[in-house]
Amino acid sequence: MRIGQRVVRDDRVTTHVALVARAFGARKILMTEVNPDIKCTIEKVTNIWGGNFSLEFIENWKSEIKMKKNSGFKIVHLSMYGEKINDIQDKLNKQEKLLIVVGAEKVPREIYEVADFNVSIGNQPHSEISALSVLLDRIQYGTQFEKVFSGAKRKITPSKRGKSVEMEEPRD
Ligand code: SAM
Repeated sequence: MRIGQRVVRDDRVTTHVALVARAFGARKILMTEVNPDIKCTIEKVTNIWGGNFSLEFIENWKSEIKMKKNSGFKIVHLSMYGEKINDIQDKLNKQEKLLIVVGAEKVPREIYEVADFNVSIGNQPHSEISALSVLLDRIQYGTQFEKVFSGAKRKITPSKRGKSVEMEEPRD
C-alpha cells in the first residue's frame, strides 16, 4: 500500500514502487492517490511481461487496513524508525499474507500503531523504492527471482552479454 503522493512530483517514484512490487512478487498495489497514467503504465508492463499483478485505488487507507487485518493479513510498515530488518526477516518470512505500507511524505502517526511490524531498512532516511525492494528480497530470500510470470509475451534468457529475448508469435 502506497500512502500519499505529491502529485506530479512523486509520479515516477510511485510508478517505480509499483514496478518493484510487481517484479519482486507482490500480487497487488493499493494506492491512496488516483493516477490513471500510473495504472496504464503498470497494465502495459504486465501485458507484455506477464503475471497477474494489479493496481487498485483506495479511498480510505484506515478501513482498507482494517479489512485486510480481519482477513488474516499482517501489516508491515516500512519506516527508518522501525525494528531492524536483520532481526525480523525470518519472522516475516513465516507470515502467510503481508500488506506492506510505504509512505511518500510524513505518514500519519496512526500507521505506527496499526502496523503489526514497523520495519527499518537501516536507520537512515532513503527511499520507498529501495526500502520496498530490500524488504521483499530479504523476506523471500531471493526466491522471487525464480518466479515464472504467466502469459508473458516477452521472456528474457539471462546471458553474459547482449540481450536475449523470446517474443511471442503474433496471433491471427
Ligand atoms: N520524512 C519522512 C518520514 O519521516 O516518514 C520520510 C519519507 S521517505 C522519502 C518515504 C518512505 O520511504 C517512508 O515513508 C518509508 O516507507 C520509506 N523509507 C525511507 N527510508 C526508510 C528506511 N531507512 N527504512 C524503511 N523505510 C524507509
